[in-house]
Amino acid sequence: MDIKKIREKFPIFKGGDGGKRLVYLDSAATSQRADMVIDSVHDFYSRGNASVHRGVYELSERATGLYEQARHKVAKFINAADPSEIVFTSGTTESINFVADAWAREHFKEGDEIVVTQAEHHANLLPWQRVAQRTGAKLRFIEVDQETFFLKDPPKDLINKNTKLVSLIHISNVLGNVWEEGLLESVIKRAHEVGARVLLDCAQSIAHKKIDVQALGVDFLACSAHKMCGPTGVGALYIKKDLHDAVEPYQVGGSMVHDAEYETANWQPAPMKFEAGTPAIAQVIGFGAAVDFFNEHVDFVELHNHEAKLCAQLVDGLNSIGGITILGNQCDMKMCGHLAAFVVDGIHAHDVSAMLGMRGVGVRAGHHCVQPLAKLIGVEASTRASLYMYNESEDIEVLVRELRDLIKTFKEA
Ligand code: PMP
Repeated sequence: MDIKKIREKFPIFKGGDGGKRLVYLDSAATSQRADMVIDSVHDFYSRGNASVHRGVYELSERATGLYEQARHKVAKFINAADPSEIVFTSGTTESINFVADAWAREHFKEGDEIVVTQAEHHANLLPWQRVAQRTGAKLRFIEVDQETFFLKDPPKDLINKNTKLVSLIHISNVLGNVWEEGLLESVIKRAHEVGARVLLDCAQSIAHKKIDVQALGVDFLACSAHKMCGPTGVGALYIKKDLHDAVEPYQVGGSMVHDAEYETANWQPAPMKFEAGTPAIAQVIGFGAAVDFFNEHVDFVELHNHEAKLCAQLVDGLNSIGGITILGNQCDMKMCGHLAAFVVDGIHAHDVSAMLGMRGVGVRAGHHCVQPLAKLIGVEASTRASLYMYNESEDIEVLVRELRDLIKTFKEA
């Protein structure tokens, strides 16, 4: 992977602001868009715009073809056994709420248990809190080891015959990797042994790791296109085929009906059953283009090596400043990380991020939508720098230089 060539495929880096380098270190929030993605959305609106599935004229048939091709591309990208296992949603958040509302709330009852980790993003915690409140099911947690920042191997009885769902973060948006070698696979295996289903929140991982739903053996997977160079407003929910009957439609309305009477209606098979209304056609086509971009230009092993090298530079750079605490397992971050959240002694994370912003460095501050974890580790706000395929060593150099300087200036004032 030639990083210079990859970077050229992102128009935003072509220098708008008086030729000043855009130091973008916030890809864990949203990635930049590849030219192929921008072109595909532009082309659709300028030359191919029509609604899908119902039209019997050429433009609509073409739009339907592109839309369904995107489903095939996403299915292949995560190695789903069949394209009907891919449902387009507005993103990870909607995908998880979909499973919570259309499956869990329909089937769970008092005494059932839902297992999540203490490192979940709110998107994979709040929907389960609501299911628990409304069905009487109980939430149980795989704990974070506060020394290593990895998840602890859960006690034997945590996943038991009452467990109906194990819903797990794949990569944390604050700590990075939280799974020690083999633990995720072991937790998935234990869940299946007791008859529970498994959901994997791949919001972060989809952009950095080769995902294979069949090898992982998950039943549901949630992801967002905007984290992997695709458009906002679209994502995917993978629902394993053997669950297609048990999962109800999340919404009902146009496009998904087989037959409707005034009093009742029934649905088409998946995936149509799960996609009521006019979908986000251009975004879905853009999502397909993002998959094309990965297939044509991204090698996951090389991407991993590139990010790990930059992450090691980032960790070493932050440590060289002094007075900075990095959240997460530094050793692991240097081997396979793509982000680092940190706290600067005596300066609030929002001030650090705002001052970096004024110096042209884009990073994120706050609890990063993992408030319970932030409280657990006693760090309510942190600054996060996150890396992607288009970042270069120079980005880290600028961050470390500006951070060192602003801390000095702040302390002198
Ligand atoms: N889970 C994780 C781990 C995330 O990082 C995010 C996005 N920050 C989400 C879920 C939610 O994704 P989205 O906002 O695209 O729905």
